[in-house]
Amino acid sequence: MKIFHKTSDIQNYLNVLKKEGKTIGFTPTMGALHEGHLSLVNESNNACDISVCSIFVNPTQFNNEGDLVNYPRKEKEDIQKLESVNCNILFLPSVEEIYPQENEKYHPPLKGKIVEVLEGEFRPGHFKGMMQVVERFLRIIEPDKIFMGLKDFQQYLLVDKMSKALELSVEVVGVATKRESDGLAMSSRNLRLKTDERKKVVAIFQALSMVKDKVNQLSINELEEKGLEYIKEKIGNKPEYFAIVDADTLLKPTEKTKKLIALTAVFVGDVRLIDNLILNEYF
Ligand code: AMP
Repeated sequence: MKIFHKTSDIQNYLNVLKKEGKTIGFTPTMGALHEGHLSLVNESNNACDISVCSIFVNPTQFNNEGDLVNYPRKEKEDIQKLESVNCNILFLPSVEEIYPQENEKYHPPLKGKIVEVLEGEFRPGHFKGMMQVVERFLRIIEPDKIFMGLKDFQQYLLVDKMSKALELSVEVVGVATKRESDGLAMSSRNLRLKTDERKKVVAIFQALSMVKDKVNQLSINELEEKGLEYIKEKIGNKPEYFAIVDADTLLKPTEKTKKLIALTAVFVGDVRLIDNLILNEYF
């Protein structure tokens, strides 16, 4: 695997490959890699000639300084894991490389409810920073496809809508959530759960599965109420949200809604977990 730290170096290398007609798949990450991340690289390997992964802990998307400082950094292990799945290129830039101008102004191309609801409501500023860094990476790497985990569904949707709004010629591919055997969505945050907490958090996937089972029997409000109550009872903490929305707008479903999704975020101790499940394709 080739490792680059400088934008100009990776661009020069990719330009040669692009001239040879090779297609480029790109997986952006913040490191501390697990099987979920590696499944994105596997999808990229299957769909493209060359797979590029980036590891960059993006300071502009943290709304909490402590979170940024404490974010796990495991460069050595990450490199081994990427090599084990035959990733071709790793981009490991410094903060100065990505943000050469201090205090630069950034105006996100997407605004409105889709950015403000759900994660947008509880993590103010997070999506602005996320879009800033993903746009920057897309302009540096200019991949044919970018691979985004559906675990972070709102993030996937925003990157898809952002790349269309900016007319970037990239296909945004959503990759299914990798789960532990009990259904818990894989996340680097799971390692911070205490033993008793780890046992309880299966309730998140159970609640999502329960509303999926009952989607044709109950109203949206009743389903949301059931999901909230189930998680509150099993985990002992009320979720920040348990919402059932149109998977294209993230707003309350209407008669035009084609795809319904349930999304939730809950604190377990000081660990914040998110998950979601598509409920049906044709409502
Ligand atoms: P992160 O490093 O947490 O920013 O995640 C990098 C990418 O991996 C994002 O597109 C995430 O949605 C994706 N990802 C994280 N966890 C999973 C998972 N369990 N299954 C699939 N993709 C995931």
